Amino acid sequence: MSIIDTLLTSTHPATDNQWVLASNNKGKLAEFKRIFAEANLDVTIVPQGQLNIEDAIENGLSFVENAIIKARHASRISGLPAIADDSGLCVPALGNAPGIYSARYAGEHGNDSKNNAKLITDLQPIRAAKPDAPVKGMFVCVLAMVCHADDPLPIIAQGLWHGEILDAPHGAGGFGYDPLFWLPDLQASAASLSAADKNSISHRGQAIQQLLAQLPL
Ligand code: IMP
Repeated sequence: MSIIDTLLTSTHPATDNQWVLASNNKGKLAEFKRIFAEANLDVTIVPQGQLNIEDAIENGLSFVENAIIKARHASRISGLPAIADDSGLCVPALGNAPGIYSARYAGEHGNDSKNNAKLITDLQPIRAAKPDAPVKGMFVCVLAMVCHADDPLPIIAQGLWHGEILDAPHGAGGFGYDPLFWLPDLQASAASLSAADKNSISHRGQAIQQLLAQLPL
């Protein structure tokens, strides 16, 4: 019996092959669906909003803690297996800030332009101290999957996408910190990549592939 069969029969026999995604982000949903379809997984990913599940309180101190909190929350309410992701930008020169607070770095949840402006400001003294050194940063995505709410063995996957932090926005696409995230090998910012190109190398793309590799199918 594959893990898919085990998950489905052991956790929720009456509800076909549905897993909850503890997010309502359309981009993330599309990416999960695409990769699961490519992997021929007979699983339907349902965003938690479709099941009227409200967001969990993310009170962990790390990406992995918050991903597990969100996955357990969605699984507890739905009775289904659940996958959650927690992601953000870490800048080692800032003690890995903004980190888990990436979405509300400047105080207001999801205000990308204020968050980017604060990051530029916070990095000014670091650039002034070493004007010729690029400021390194990494996008982080941690995924947690639980078969049931109290699963003692969540599957954890982590993707890191390394780059440099610009001192001014560059590129018109993407979201969040993409315009400040420079990829020296590509001579492009994350905001100037197509969605498909970004997904193929990003922290989230890497983490989803790692998650798949851990499912003992
Ligand atoms: P969440 O995991 O969707 O809540 O993302 C947290 C925050 O991290 C977002 O609001 C963005 O600020 C940042 N972030 C996460 N992934 C990306 C990305 O791929 N590009 C740009 N910013 C990101």
